[in-house]
Amino acid sequence: MTPRKPTQPIVSNNYIGGEFRAPQTGAFAPVHSPYDGELVGQVAMSDARDVAAAVAAAHAAAPKWAATPIKERSLVLFRMRELMLVNLDALAHVAARESGKTVGEAQAEVLKGIEVLEFALSMQNLDAGGAMEVSRGVICTTRRAPLGVVAGIVPFNFPVMVPMWMYPIAIAAGNAFILKPSDRVPTASTLIAQLWSDAGLPAGIFSVVHGDGAVVNAIIDHPHVEAVAFVGSTPVAKLVYQRTTALGKRALALGGAKNHIILAPDADPAIAAAGIADSFTGCAGQRCMAASLLVAVGPCESIIDAIVERAASIHLGEQMGAIITPASLTRLQAAIAEAQEHGALLRLDGRSAPLPAEFAGGNWLGPTIIDGVTPASRAATEELFGPVLSIVRVPTLEAALALEGQNAYGNATSVFTQSGAVAQKVAEASTSGMIGVNIGVPVPREPFSFGGTKQSRFGHGDITGQAGIEFWTTVKKITTKWTLQPDSSWMS
Ligand code: NAD
Repeated sequence: MTPRKPTQPIVSNNYIGGEFRAPQTGAFAPVHSPYDGELVGQVAMSDARDVAAAVAAAHAAAPKWAATPIKERSLVLFRMRELMLVNLDALAHVAARESGKTVGEAQAEVLKGIEVLEFALSMQNLDAGGAMEVSRGVICTTRRAPLGVVAGIVPFNFPVMVPMWMYPIAIAAGNAFILKPSDRVPTASTLIAQLWSDAGLPAGIFSVVHGDGAVVNAIIDHPHVEAVAFVGSTPVAKLVYQRTTALGKRALALGGAKNHIILAPDADPAIAAAGIADSFTGCAGQRCMAASLLVAVGPCESIIDAIVERAASIHLGEQMGAIITPASLTRLQAAIAEAQEHGALLRLDGRSAPLPAEFAGGNWLGPTIIDGVTPASRAATEELFGPVLSIVRVPTLEAALALEGQNAYGNATSVFTQSGAVAQKVAEASTSGMIGVNIGVPVPREPFSFGGTKQSRFGHGDITGQAGIEFWTTVKKITTKWTLQPDSSWMS
């Protein structure tokens, strides 16, 4: 389904202190839909003054929210969950229109975001702290305390879900959260801010400041911001991580990926073809969990033929969406041309895929399969972030695992096989943080946490699940002595 267009461009202002405010710069940037290039919005381009205003509002509101019992805080999240379900269609259309994905993919993203909200709702039952009588009459207890004002910086490709990897848990834990969305997909955050307000979240506990890297730096540098989570490309993840930790603050920065799919010759052809084709074409390949390099072990011809056949049957605009910007499209086209120049074989060339006339002004590339790439080539090593699957041939599973181990990134690795021993070997030897067996997109669902390794993650821990609770809180240890006996030893 094609996303609905607004009757006029939507203006995305900042959301500070419970109200929508124009940026103090007075500056806005245009938002174009990847579908047809049409102007669909204007986004505030804020500066450090807007960040300061958001942090001041958050800082003022945080203590009362932190002092609200978690069971009461959770009631607001319950209402938010209901409101998100009621508004699922509106959120999905906005996310699809601005990010380029299909409406069905956007609906799935909203539902996956809601799963994290459901996890956050359950926090009240998960962590009641610990208690022990450590000495006569002396009891140690622990309690998780929020950090105060915290922030999340997010990419374009999941305008609803990726912010929800962060704010439900951060807010349920008692923090005041500031979101910096991607300036290419701002409107979903505007809807979310309104829903938080409707759910009864106190002003200042959720804020949105739009803009570019200058806003990110101002957030990191603000002395009242205690922790920063980031999701985006590896170079920026590294910068954000280094800048935040250099100030002695807590940081977790998830970066890009080059996900390997190891295809064993004994794989079920139908399951492998569907899983691999859907993995590299879903969201037009613009997800950090997309299949990117197919490592074919030995004779896999019939399965590769089936992947090509399935990918070739995908209709642009219906089953697959568009590429985020004209510049990203140009970069992808250049990478395909370069692989061809280096002798790789184009099994499927998405540059000539049929496109409905209504999308002529958009950024489109059909599924593309490049066979016989060399292991050191850009097509085999770099994140392309589009519907492009590179294939490299290896003789053995050991060679496949060696190649996977050399991969600079470590987000996801999947294996397609019918052998339990092969699956187990890959799970043990893989250097990635998330591993799939007969599944093309091995995203761990809540309560399992999400996170990669190597250049796909800077910092310790994961972003969701129990790891999310740990990131957004600190553990206080309270030692209490109530005893009627006057005697004491060094232990009590
Ligand atoms: P990006 O790195 O360009 O932008 C991410 C955020 O950083 C945006 O909010 C952007 O405004 C901000 N930013 C950009 N340049 C900056 C700078 N110099 N200093 C400070 N902030 C800056 O990423 P993108 O193009 O929006 O998203 C795609 C990337 O995100 C891909 O690499 C993809 O793999 C990655 N991603 C990773 C995960 C994961 O979980 N590992 C999930 C989703 C996306």
